[in-house]
Amino acid sequence: MNQQTVAVIGAGFSGVLLALQLLRRCPATTSVTLIERNGGFGRGQAYSTENPNHLLNVPAGRMSAFRDRPDDFIDWLRQRAAADPALSGVSPGSFVPRALFGQYMRHLLEVERSIPERGGRLTLLRGEVVALRKQPDSLSLDLADGRVLRAGLAALAVGNFPPGRPPGSDPDIADRPWYRPDPWAPEAFTGLDPEAPVLLIGTALSMIDGVVSLLDLGHRGPIHAVSRRGLVPRPHPAQADPLPASPIPPLPTDMSELLRLVRQEARRRLADGGSWHAVVDALRPSTQDLWQAMTLEEKSRFLRHLRPWWDVHRHRMANPVARRVEEARASGQLRIHAGHLRTIADAPGGAAVTFCRRQDGVEETLTAARLVNCAGPAGDYDHLDDPLVRDLLASGHARLDALRLGLDVTSACALRDANGAVSRRVFAIGPVTRAAFWEMTAVPDIRRQCEVLADHLAAVSAVAPPLMASAAS
Ligand SMILES: Cc1cc2nc3c(=O)[nH]c(=O)nc-3n(C[C@H](O)[C@H](O)[C@H](O)COP(=O)(O)OP(=O)(O)OC[C@H]3O[C@@H](n4cnc5c(N)ncnc54)[C@H](O)[C@@H]3O)c2cc1C
Repeated sequence: MNQQTVAVIGAGFSGVLLALQLLRRCPATTSVTLIERNGGFGRGQAYSTENPNHLLNVPAGRMSAFRDRPDDFIDWLRQRAAADPALSGVSPGSFVPRALFGQYMRHLLEVERSIPERGGRLTLLRGEVVALRKQPDSLSLDLADGRVLRAGLAALAVGNFPPGRPPGSDPDIADRPWYRPDPWAPEAFTGLDPEAPVLLIGTALSMIDGVVSLLDLGHRGPIHAVSRRGLVPRPHPAQADPLPASPIPPLPTDMSELLRLVRQEARRRLADGGSWHAVVDALRPSTQDLWQAMTLEEKSRFLRHLRPWWDVHRHRMANPVARRVEEARASGQLRIHAGHLRTIADAPGGAAVTFCRRQDGVEETLTAARLVNCAGPAGDYDHLDDPLVRDLLASGHARLDALRLGLDVTSACALRDANGAVSRRVFAIGPVTRAAFWEMTAVPDIRRQCEVLADHLAAVSAVAPPLMASAAS
């Protein structure tokens, strides 16, 4: 038994950064084991793409891993400019390839491993954790290949989960030659007739990546994208807003009031020659407080009515990407449809997808040689088939929040078990905690959460072993 080991499950941005922060904060007797099931430590789902036209959707100047060193990512990019001339003009407002951010995180990990007093305390373990069990004085983690790991504390940094089967499809859709469940898989768009119609399910940022991939491959045929509302992410402002940041008055917690205020501020700013983006951005420091102040009923109303609008204004497209998408729409190659999917069936040469149009309720059928699921992260945790999450729920070590947005965690990121009891050994960070914090998606939010959790775990692991051993799990 090793009470001083913290197991971090998942080595995307959240897991890597938490590991780095733990090594800096925990006593020298604490070691960290970072466990990742896929190839690259530090890349996760977002930064694994090799396509140089899949850009960060946040300007580089806001992507530092460290709040107290806001230029860290920019400085790293500038150092690389000697070897990569494409980076020579990089500025805080640049949108750089996402793969570079994955390399940056890997670089931070390597630097940490090279520091004698900290690197020796970090173990990188390739494997998939499929179950987590409480022992009298520790935790045991079962890996898919049969290995078992002991740890005193564990943090789930498992990220987002892939979308489920599209509505209207057969349970065996995964076996159809025309269906692709993952828009970032190398085979998602290869082997296509460049003139053939393609249909993308979803119209958010994953769809945008799909369109970019198709355009990069020289696709000339029609590209259709369908979602319930047909809302597409807005671009970042083309130029810096000339107006100074306007202080937003005290924010009401009533949703209708808040919406009215935001619209009014956005209109005022636009009339003064500024942009609405600054108003949305000014809400960011308060979004967690606003979310936590809402009743369950208000949260539910927000999710039903406002979330799609919030998402497209808040999670925006990089400008170079937005220009390509606009061109494809203007030429008629890319068509966005709003409607509910009804049926997905085999058709000569591909799939026939029928949806009920939002604007008039009329059913329309599109045929496509390829159907790619770009629906974005799974939103309904009731139907996840992730082995670890299923195990945690089945064993009662975790429970879902009332809205099924993620795992039920405290403000200190501790899991609540099936009875609501707060775990003193198992924690979670990143997107699985969105039920408690709402905005826990982008780097600026997650890096703050990693700091807070690392402080907490450092305090817990500094406690003498006998006290830790007697702690309830
Ligand atoms: C396509 C895309 C683009 C994005 N672009 C941006 C952007 O430009 N800027 C921004 O700020 N945010 C962006 N985001 C948001 C992004 O989610 C966060 O920035 C951040 O990367 C989330 O990291 P994570 O580590 O929590 O999750 P992930 O990146 O999903 O990493 C989770 C990791 O855990 C591993 N894992 C899961 N379960 C297990 C298990 N049981 N055992 C072992 N390993 C496991 C997975 O293999 C994965 O590597 C983007 C998200 C996506 C999906």
